[in-house]
Amino acid sequence: MSIAENLERVHDDIAAACRRADRRPEDVQLMAVSKVHPAETLLEAHAAGQRLFGENRVQEFAAKLNRLHLLDSAGKDDPHRLEVHLIGPLQSNKTAKAAEFFQSIDTVDSLKTAQRLSAAATSTGKLLPILVEVKLSHEESKHGIAPDLLPELLDSIALLPSLQLRGLMTVPPWSTEAEPARPYFRQLRLLRDRLQPASPTLIELSMGMSNDFTVAIEEGSTTVRIGTAIFGRRPPSAPIA
Ligand SMILES: *Cc1c(COP(=O)(O)O)cnc(C)c1O
Repeated sequence: MSIAENLERVHDDIAAACRRADRRPEDVQLMAVSKVHPAETLLEAHAAGQRLFGENRVQEFAAKLNRLHLLDSAGKDDPHRLEVHLIGPLQSNKTAKAAEFFQSIDTVDSLKTAQRLSAAATSTGKLLPILVEVKLSHEESKHGIAPDLLPELLDSIALLPSLQLRGLMTVPPWSTEAEPARPYFRQLRLLRDRLQPASPTLIELSMGMSNDFTVAIEEGSTTVRIGTAIFGRRPPSAPIA
C-alpha cells in the first residue's frame, strides 16, 4: 500500500469513528508521525495532502529540516505549509532548538522546560503553542506530569509570556488492543473538562495512535498521532516514544 492509500484509509477510519461518536470529522486532526523515516517520506505524504507531522527527536528532525526548508518557510497562510510538532521527550538543553524548529511542543511536562521554552520563544519574538503531557499510568518509562500536579503547572505556565497553552497529551501503556487504552483517554478528557474553567485555552486532546485511535476519537481526541498505519512498521531498533 502506498502512503497516499494508507492516508485515505486512516481518514476513512477517522470518519467512521466520528460517526459512531456523533462528532464532526473536521474536529479531529490527523498527525502523521514521521519519526525514523527520511525527509523524502514526509515529502511523499505532503504530496498526498498531509500537512501536520509529529517528530520525536530534536536532533533527528534537525537533520531532515534542510530538505524541508522550502515548505517550512512558507507563510502562515500558505495551504502547502508543513507543520511539525515535537511529540517526544524534550531535554532541557535542547529547548532553544526545539522552539526554533517546531511549530508546537506537545510534550511539556515540567515548569523548568516551560520556562526555557518561553525564554527561547521570547528571544525570537514568537508565541509558541504547547501541549502539556500527562502521565496517567504508573509505568516507569513514561513521561508526563502526574494529574495531581497538573493544576499548579498550568497556573505557572499561564504566567509565562511566550507560551500558548492549547491542551493536553498522553500516551497510555502500550497494547496491541485498543480497548485497554479507553480509560486513559477518558481520564484525560475529564481532566481537561475539569481544568478548562481555570484554563480556558485548554482545548486540544492529543491522544490515540495506530492501534487505538478510533477508541481515542470516541473518547474525545482532537488530534490522533499515527505512524505505523501511514508509513508502515518502523525498524525494530527504533525508539517507541
Ligand atoms: C511513535 C509515536 C506515535 C505513533 O505510533 P504508531 O503506533 O506508529 O502510530 C504516536 N505518539 C508518540 C508520542 C510516538 O512516539
